[in-house]
Amino acid sequence: MTENGQPRSVVDGTDVDARAAAFLAAGTVPHVIEGERRQSRAGGERPIMNPSTGHQIGTVTSGDADDLDDAVRSARAAFEDGRWRLLTPREKETRLQRLADLIETHREVTGDLDGLDAGILRKYASFVSQASINALRYYAGWPTKIAGHLPPVGPDYTAQERIEPIGVMGVIKPWNGPGAFFNQVAPALAAGNSVVLKPAEHTPLTATYMALLALEAGIPPGVLNVVHGDGAVGSPLVAHPAVNRLSFTGSVATGRALAAAAAQTFKKVNIELGGKSPVIVFPDADLELAAVAATGSVWNNSGQVCTAGSRTLVHRDIYEEFLERAVEASKDLTVGHAFDDTADLGPLISPQQRDKVRSYVEIGRSEGAAVKLVGRAPETGGNYQAPVIFADVDMSMRVAREEIFGPVMSVIPFDSEEQAYRIANDTEFGLAAGVFTRDIARADRAADALDVGTVWINCYQVLDAAVSFGGAKHSGYGRSLGSPALEEYTRRKSVWSRRYAADPLR
Ligand code: ADP
Repeated sequence: MTENGQPRSVVDGTDVDARAAAFLAAGTVPHVIEGERRQSRAGGERPIMNPSTGHQIGTVTSGDADDLDDAVRSARAAFEDGRWRLLTPREKETRLQRLADLIETHREVTGDLDGLDAGILRKYASFVSQASINALRYYAGWPTKIAGHLPPVGPDYTAQERIEPIGVMGVIKPWNGPGAFFNQVAPALAAGNSVVLKPAEHTPLTATYMALLALEAGIPPGVLNVVHGDGAVGSPLVAHPAVNRLSFTGSVATGRALAAAAAQTFKKVNIELGGKSPVIVFPDADLELAAVAATGSVWNNSGQVCTAGSRTLVHRDIYEEFLERAVEASKDLTVGHAFDDTADLGPLISPQQRDKVRSYVEIGRSEGAAVKLVGRAPETGGNYQAPVIFADVDMSMRVAREEIFGPVMSVIPFDSEEQAYRIANDTEFGLAAGVFTRDIARADRAADALDVGTVWINCYQVLDAAVSFGGAKHSGYGRSLGSPALEEYTRRKSVWSRRYAADPLR
């Protein structure tokens, strides 16, 4: 069978691109170290599970500190001999663009791989890989433009402010958007660094596949290494003396421990954590737009998105009408297999995550939240969870305070603009917020008042590689994307030279 001219094969009962199937069938998914496919020295392995069925679909090697050390040595050697760092800016641009082109031609494959181990809906999966393509294209333009400057210091000296790559970057990623890791890796490469990437243990496939494509695109061996495993790889990556800087995306608990560990070796860390992001709907909003965007922001990837708009703040004047529209927009949604193109929500990553979300649904009920919708989801097969809308939630409830990371929407009424901002900011998180209003002055006030890293006005979850992204408060620090990310992946060096007014030897 073919689709878009590509042969198809069956994996775990699903029709997928034959290249994705062949990749899985090739045996235990390896690390990519020094451009080579390697198995863990100690022989550790881990099953790869399909969240849509609960079946094992393959095996991935699972490393420890020794494998990590091999990867760091490989990255360090690549950095020091300059096989990437010292290429001309134009050549770096060419190769990063070539990699973007290659991923584009393999987008069906990476989308299928993200569907197979992360349970990402196929229609959403190509959007995830597209983020990597966009980041690569955007940052490909930077090597030719990263320039220092010469501050004016008078006639006796020349002072240069140079901008240099830092060395070896450690990048640790979670499981909820595995194909998008070039958001962090592309700026690191554009700046001339080498990278050791640790994907989440649940989702090893796309990272490995894309790292092999990077070799094909001419990113030299050792410049982008991938090491599989859990904290047994993550921890030594954070502690390793030859790793210069870190980027971490994941949970608050791990982020906190990681920042403390990184401080021992004075590594700067970029940290992107979770959220409990408010979507505020004012009475003058386009209510249909707001209802679709607010619900979509929680159903998107079954709520497993750090920017999920999991608290919906609605003005009392339009509260009932908004709830009706939100239920209307959600009641017919179907939950199903990641490769079922009629499904609106895919599975959760693991049975544990599903149980956690279910327990929050029970907590919401017992706390007195009004259940406005419990959708339908298959009882068997994958890790399925129906979408749930809670109304009459207040900030004393755990469903309003804790990140659920599942399709649970908590609707909270408010009476005044000032109160809306107070409720919105009454959380330890500060990742993002949405504001729905037709009043431009109010939109501006909201943007000022909200203590978050991104504000979306009359839209939600819009991202572009040119616009930086990051959190406030316990949602983390440092920015990814845009030109600010380059600051995180470069360092400054000031060089002073004495200028002689006359020949000093005379
Ligand atoms: P999640 O709840 O999204 O799985 P985690 O914070 O546990 O969030 O995981 C995010 C990433 O951090 C994963 O790649 C995971 O393997 C990694 N990780 C887990 N423990 C540690 C650790 N102690 N040090 C570094 N990385 C870790």
